[in-house]
Amino acid sequence: MNIKFTKIIEYFKTLRFKILYYINQELAIQELENEKKANLEAIAYHEAGHAVANYIFEIPIECASILPEDHYSGCVEISKKWIEKKFGEDCEVKDTDPNSSIKLIHYSAIEKYCGGAAETKYRGYSNKEGNRTDRDIVKSVLKSRCSNEAKIDELEKGYENSAAQMMEYPLNWKMVQSVASALLEKKTLSQSELKEICDNVMKGEAP
Ligand SMILES: [Zn+2]
Repeated sequence: MNIKFTKIIEYFKTLRFKILYYINQELAIQELENEKKANLEAIAYHEAGHAVANYIFEIPIECASILPEDHYSGCVEISKKWIEKKFGEDCEVKDTDPNSSIKLIHYSAIEKYCGGAAETKYRGYSNKEGNRTDRDIVKSVLKSRCSNEAKIDELEKGYENSAAQMMEYPLNWKMVQSVASALLEKKTLSQSELKEICDNVMKGEAP
């Protein structure tokens, strides 16, 4: 969706709110509250998708958050210590085993698509802006390693499908649901809190 179209939609949404507010103030405020709640839930599911993918791929996180910061409505930050250990200053994977390095790139790319996949499974669609940021990161990593556009497209589609499939697996989805509700309650989660929630789901101890 381009910016102009988004602005038009925003304009009509605001106009609709003003008219409804004039007719029925209580209903207008209630609708606004419901929309805010639905958006926050969608953000929590999006970030939970990223966080659970990291848990599955054994990539430790610094934190997962649904607190808005800069231009982001939430984020999942990978452990800085882990990045230092895995990557050098030139951001090349330090691991000498090429299979392990490639695996890491694939995992990180799928993880980026898991945010949108979780959000889509939760509410039927995902926020275009948030997804574009995730896709742009994957694209720039692929472009730095491959100049074949068709191959990049093929890889991206593969990552997107893998992320969607991961969310369809019942145990993974249960983890996403548990992490999303913990995020809604606490706003931020550490690596140990994420691990505890996911471990409990794996052990069948989740509520
Ligand atoms: Zn994301």
